[in-house]
Amino acid sequence: MSKNKSSESVKVVVRCRPLSRKEESSGPPGGIIQMDLRLGQVILRNPRAPASEPQKTFTFDAVYDANSKQRDLYDESVRPLIDSVLAGFNGTIFAYGQTGTGKTYTMQGAWLDPEKRGVIPNAFDHIFTHISRSQSDKQYLVRASYLEIYLEEIRDLLDPNHGSARALELRESPDSGVYVRDLTSCVCKSIKEIEEVMNVGNQARAVGATDMNEHSSRSHALFLITVECSQPGPDGRKHIRVGRLNLVDLAGSERQAKTGVQGERLKEAAKINLSLSALGNVISALADGRSGHVPYRDSKLTRLLQDSLGGNAKTVMVATLGPSAQHYDETLTTLRYANRAKNIQNQPRVNEDPKDALLREFQREIARLRAQLNHRKWRSKQKREGQVDAEGWERDEDGEMEGEDEGVEMEKEAKEYVELEEQRLEREKEAIREDQFLLAEEKQRLLGEKERMMGDLRKEQEATEQLTAKYKAMESKLLVGGKNIMDHTNEQQKMLEMKRQEIAEQTRSEREIQQQMLVQDEETVELRETFTSLQQEVEAKTKKLKKLYAKLQCIKAEIQDVNDEHVRSRQELEQTQNELTRELKFKYLIIENFIPPEEKNKIMSRLTFDPEEDQWKFQPLVPAESKSSQMKKRPASAVGYKRPISQYARVAIAMGANSRYRAENIMFLELDMTPPNTASLDCSTEAESNQSHSVDSSPTKDRGVHKSRSWCQTQKSLSTSSSNVSLSACHTATPMAAK
Ligand code: ADP
Ligand code: MG
Repeated sequence: MSKNKSSESVKVVVRCRPLSRKEESSGPPGGIIQMDLRLGQVILRNPRAPASEPQKTFTFDAVYDANSKQRDLYDESVRPLIDSVLAGFNGTIFAYGQTGTGKTYTMQGAWLDPEKRGVIPNAFDHIFTHISRSQSDKQYLVRASYLEIYLEEIRDLLDPNHGSARALELRESPDSGVYVRDLTSCVCKSIKEIEEVMNVGNQARAVGATDMNEHSSRSHALFLITVECSQPGPDGRKHIRVGRLNLVDLAGSERQAKTGVQGERLKEAAKINLSLSALGNVISALADGRSGHVPYRDSKLTRLLQDSLGGNAKTVMVATLGPSAQHYDETLTTLRYANRAKNIQNQPRVNEDPKDALLREFQREIARLRAQLNHRKWRSKQKREGQVDAEGWERDEDGEMEGEDEGVEMEKEAKEYVELEEQRLEREKEAIREDQFLLAEEKQRLLGEKERMMGDLRKEQEATEQLTAKYKAMESKLLVGGKNIMDHTNEQQKMLEMKRQEIAEQTRSEREIQQQMLVQDEETVELRETFTSLQQEVEAKTKKLKKLYAKLQCIKAEIQDVNDEHVRSRQELEQTQNELTRELKFKYLIIENFIPPEEKNKIMSRLTFDPEEDQWKFQPLVPAESKSSQMKKRPASAVGYKRPISQYARVAIAMGANSRYRAENIMFLELDMTPPNTASLDCSTEAESNQSHSVDSSPTKDRGVHKSRSWCQTQKSLSTSSSNVSLSACHTATPMAAK
């Protein structure tokens, strides 16, 4: 399965959006970000720091400023990745950054404006154009899925019952890594179809946006494309390569303190931040390289991206920035995140002939249908010619005919055959009718027989048609290189595209060389240390000292920044913790006061935590394996009966009472008991008059808190006769049941 075992690092590119109109009018003029496109550097100015403080410089694989075009970003940074996916690698592109910095713009953009189409629509074009231009011995199967992670739950955006459906589960298989169970996946045959899939999913997200207030920016969205390609290898057999592409639009990494959210929103933000901070931890652990444990399991997002970060995938991270001074802290955090991610090493390899390739199943099914059709064809031919060519249809089956022509031909032949047969039968019927020597009865019988034969013929034809339709439908799902899609680009356009790719490639390599030169420059300074005079030596050393001093200052500032960042995130976590503790106290109060202690204990003893699903679950009341042994043991008191039985029930059986109530331990209880809250209301008025019974909000001091009582316990305060009746019924019934 593995071919190319070399490792490569995650590519990180940074993009800065233009100042928005609001920022232009309100904020201080000018941004805080400068970009050196040639070197791939971002220079960040701290608006609050004195001018003497050195600016912070970060170097990335590529940077895109406010004037950058969607197309440039695609050609330079994304195109090579999609090419790899088409060659059978796994690929991931994710956009990371604060809300409103252009993640969705970069990933999706404005679909209708060709200049502003984002990574996803461009990738669609790229994939289908590639297929249409590839050789005709290649067969492709393209599938798409769309999901979102909202409040740590995975939801299928292509499921029609998106809103009400259960959250999906994550599973892991050695072949395809971590995957989502039962996720809808649509086979797409053209750009239009895959765009339709995207639209359906986006609408499901949009519904959430109105219902849940800006839901879209609060969930992580993943669009998954699987491209399976089958091609005959040198050994003559067809080999399948499977490329999986994840296109991820993450939720905003804004701070909750800044957005001023509370309650539900805060919990939401806490969950978003949880998965983003889990992502951060995974990136740190991987970039560090020393810590053996990578906490992928801390969130759904990191588990889904497990392969993309440090695994079998090629990954591009697009970090998006806003230029406004207001968001300096977030911008710095994003840059640090991105800077760390550069150090992650992945081990991408071509996925060749995996067991779960759907294309293989499709090919088998198509071959089976074709064999069936050929068999029918042979049978009809045999009938027509009245001669048996035993190997005929098998030979036909092997003969490789072009799928579509073959289908058309078969249909035509079948039709002709049916028409001929019908004509023949009609003629025979006519002959029978006109036959003078036949008895009327005999005539009727023969005619009936002919009718039946015609019916059979029609049925046969219908079955053939159905089979042909099924065959055609199956086959149309597979895309054959250079055929299925109309290639509306002429040669000139093709050349233009190639030139553009070449330029992109050149820019990229130029930047790499520049970056390497920069690093080498620094190193060689130390080597050129032969001085002709003392003066020169002093000069050189002063220069070096200055350089080192500047570096020291940079690092000091960085330490300060990291510290600040740490303090801030700790404060945030504390705030979240306080909020959650408050909520916990509230729930605890309810439990302490409204659930009888014995019930609570029963529930507690049955609960177990399922780490796989991250949920508490009830254990079954009777353990499954001991059930059978329990069933086998017959108690001594149950001689002659299925189970121990009371005197009352025996009498009832003897008298032939309703057999339904033989289970003697069923009691009739009236349902007209007084609601328990009346009792607790009584208690609370009592409490008001009595100081010693004051309600204490702290659930830990349970002496001050009113314990809940079941209505049985408070019966003294209840005076309705009906409940007394039902109570007495209960008392009389209990000893009987205990017998
Ligand atoms: P996010 O998804 O990060 O929350 P959006 O993609 O929704 O942010 O972008 C916020 C706004 O900024 C949108 O109106 C978008 O059109 C605009 N925008 C973002 N990036 C750019 C860009 N590179 N050029 C022009 N406009 C942009
Ligand atoms: Mg967005």
